[in-house]
Amino acid sequence: MSILVTNDDGIQAEGIQVLARALASLDDVVVVAPDRPRSACGHAITLHKPLRLARYRMGDIPAYAASGTPADCVILAVRALLKEKPGLVVSGINAGSNLGTDVTYSGTVSGAMEGAILGVPAVAVSITSGGDNLAYPFAARFAAHLARAVLERGFPPHSLLNVNIPHRPQETIRGVAVTRLGERRYPSEISIREDPNGRTYYWLGGNVPEDVLDEGTDVKAIQDGLISVTPLKMDLTEYPLLSRLEGWNLSLDSL
Ligand code: MN
Repeated sequence: MSILVTNDDGIQAEGIQVLARALASLDDVVVVAPDRPRSACGHAITLHKPLRLARYRMGDIPAYAASGTPADCVILAVRALLKEKPGLVVSGINAGSNLGTDVTYSGTVSGAMEGAILGVPAVAVSITSGGDNLAYPFAARFAAHLARAVLERGFPPHSLLNVNIPHRPQETIRGVAVTRLGERRYPSEISIREDPNGRTYYWLGGNVPEDVLDEGTDVKAIQDGLISVTPLKMDLTEYPLLSRLEGWNLSLDSL
């Protein structure tokens, strides 16, 4: 069984190259990653145009650049490229945090989610800064440490781990917290401007989120200088609401 590595910052990103080399100490690694940056593409897949795979040079690690999204990459690898299902999917190392509600926008997390959907244990790894000089070697060592534990201990089906590593000097990282998803509130201001043709345009993003610092959450752990490891599952059903809805009398008889 091999380890499949993907990301959303694109195959040329430093994070995926350092990650692939660190995981190669555990098992055979295959890299299938987007041929360009695809951050914040969420769980999009490509249905209406052809997908291409091109060999990419990454030392002696087999690597392919794909013309699609991270989810496309995992589907192509598992369904078309690899002879045998991988034992693990690892996505990252992303330049920028994927905490709380970010996970639904994140291409990094979606790559891991696609692994979970296809029945492969999966881990998404991010560093909480988008800047330069990120501590990729340390993050990759932790990713390999966690990957080894996942391979040894196994994993419930259709689940994944979302890992965030605080961007701060390594000696000030205080440990590892197992967390739940927290909440990030993005300020609602949107830049509204006018283009040279006098037509209005809107610009989202660039705002610093306001983290809700509840105990036990990933956003709180990062604030406290801890690595957060959050188990996620693909079943988004809200079971208590399901029970309540059954009492709403939505039958067609009352239409
Ligand atoms: Mn990214």
